[in-house]
Amino acid sequence: HLQIQGLHKSYGTLEVLHDVDLEVRPGEVTVVLGPSGSGKSTLLRLINHLERPDRGFVALDGEVIGYARRPSRRHGHVLRELTERDVLRQRTRIGFVFQNFHLFPHLTALENVVEAPVSAQGRRRSEVEAEARELLARVGLADKADARPRQLSGGQQQRVAIARALAVRPSLLLFDEPTSALDPELVGEVLAVIRDLAHGGTTLVVVTHEVAFARDVADTVVFMDAGRVVEQGPAAQVLSAPRHARTRAFLDKVR
Ligand code: ATP
Ligand code: MG
Repeated sequence: HLQIQGLHKSYGTLEVLHDVDLEVRPGEVTVVLGPSGSGKSTLLRLINHLERPDRGFVALDGEVIGYARRPSRRHGHVLRELTERDVLRQRTRIGFVFQNFHLFPHLTALENVVEAPVSAQGRRRSEVEAEARELLARVGLADKADARPRQLSGGQQQRVAIARALAVRPSLLLFDEPTSALDPELVGEVLAVIRDLAHGGTTLVVVTHEVAFARDVADTVVFMDAGRVVEQGPAAQVLSAPRHARTRAFLDKVR
């Protein structure tokens, strides 16, 4: 269960996120749309605490990301920053799939998937390996376990990245434009895998320009512009009958 409240982020004088609220319930799929520079990637990076918020907070399953809630006599509670080690522990509960795959180039597909559960979660390699093979099969790559990234197509690399993100058994999966670096004919195979996850009940936040995909799998669509959530609501409503002129203009352009 992801809860974001009153999130603000600036870089110097540039305000990149302004008072963002968002809630994603377990098993829900949220698609984030918005023009370039609207703050979509920054929002995902804040969820994973790759960036610190200036104000507001992100909580996953009731636990504030990056901070410990401390009771305070004067303020009810205050937030104390967590150590890097605790942040890493929290981060393993969130899977992140990037536009450019970010696989370890010197490791095989299987080793890429096995890496985090073993090194960050301290799980037994033999057990993790069996699970990693199942995950590779799930994304249609059972026969590519021993291939290195450069021997794989973009679509295959992205499917390895998805298997890797799933390997830590995350309670939330974030996707940042997972298909925009792919040749058009490879987009479908990656969207199909994400669609399967959505139907399987994985909690997803997906930044994408694929409006047809959003219409298909999203429960909620969030439209961002200039660091603000302009509109959010049920996918069918936001995509078919947007309330704001800005959302309408954007959808007319990408469709
Ligand atoms: P795109 O669709 O192009 O990926 P986006 O919606 O993901 O765009 P962000 O990457 O979140 O947008 O960037 C939002 C704004 O913040 C942009 O103006 C960007 O230049 C700025 N920005 C992002 N990261 C930094 C940073 N580390 N330092 C300074 N400015 C940044
Ligand atoms: Mg981005």
